Amino acid sequence: MVTGAAGFLGSHLCDALLAEGHSVLGIDNLITGKLRNLEHLKGESRFSFQEQDICSQFDPGRIDYIFDFASPASPVDYMEHGIETLQVGSIGVFNLLEVAKRWGATFFLASTSECYGDPLEHPQKESYWGHVNPVGPRSVYDESKRFAEAATTAYRRYHKVDVRIVRIFNTYGPRLQMNDGRVISNFMKQALRGDELTVYGDGSQTRSFCYVSDEVEGILELAWSKEQEPTNIGNPREFTILECAREVLAVTDSKSGIKFLSLPQDDPKQRRPDISKARALLGWEPKIDLRTGLRLSLDYFRTEVEAERAAAGSASR
Ligand code: UDP
Repeated sequence: MVTGAAGFLGSHLCDALLAEGHSVLGIDNLITGKLRNLEHLKGESRFSFQEQDICSQFDPGRIDYIFDFASPASPVDYMEHGIETLQVGSIGVFNLLEVAKRWGATFFLASTSECYGDPLEHPQKESYWGHVNPVGPRSVYDESKRFAEAATTAYRRYHKVDVRIVRIFNTYGPRLQMNDGRVISNFMKQALRGDELTVYGDGSQTRSFCYVSDEVEGILELAWSKEQEPTNIGNPREFTILECAREVLAVTDSKSGIKFLSLPQDDPKQRRPDISKARALLGWEPKIDLRTGLRLSLDYFRTEVEAERAAAGSASR
């Protein structure tokens, strides 16, 4: 079972599990997920979909693996749906852990580098406890995921549920939502439209971007391992946001300029995973660099921008 199945990462995970020969039940309440991300699976006999909020108790029947990818995940989305974000990481996670306990299933939690907050340790190792503002605008997501990690670990400790916890760093690729406000979707959209790229602050803050196929591969390596402690899966190559803007301009061959806007509150200054654990334990390593990953995403973003243009054109006629 995959929750958050209609989301960017959840839908890619469903594809990868099906490609490995598994049967998959996809669950999503469609608060931010889109059914079109699963459209290509229509007619796939090993895939079924259920519209379901995991904050309401439900029993999917006998299952052996739960991948919990249900949560708004971009700052724009989780700030718009703050309460739901807190609920899905607490009530939702408890409900799924109960399902895992009932059926003897393994529970895999999609956690996040946001657990490290605005980190004082760089790069971030799994042993770092983080630097999180519990009442800042990002806290609805950060604390929800930190709580989810605690709940997952408690079910392992007290109920012997078999668990995995992945800490995901910034991931991008096709199906990234156009309006989720993330830096890659914003920049690609702006560059392809010929609009100025909106860099927040002076663009010196850093992120480390992992292409979706690398991320999913690492997630599955972790899933099939026996590791129960949190594990970073991300690409350790770090870019300033200004460098990221230049990469996007190069890949899209765009003449767009750059405009500087104010930096959102509590925006982490730096983010880079230390992946020595994943390397040693799983033999996993990302293969796709940012330039290549952006090229691989170009057709998707182009099609989306053209569809928007066509829709705007027909609305104004
Ligand atoms: N950012 C930016 N311009 C945008 C969107 C984001 O400069 O149009 C910056 C944002 O301030 C942050 C980084 O890019 O420093 C990554 O933002 P994103 O929302 O993608 O994810 P985050 O890593 O902050 O959760």
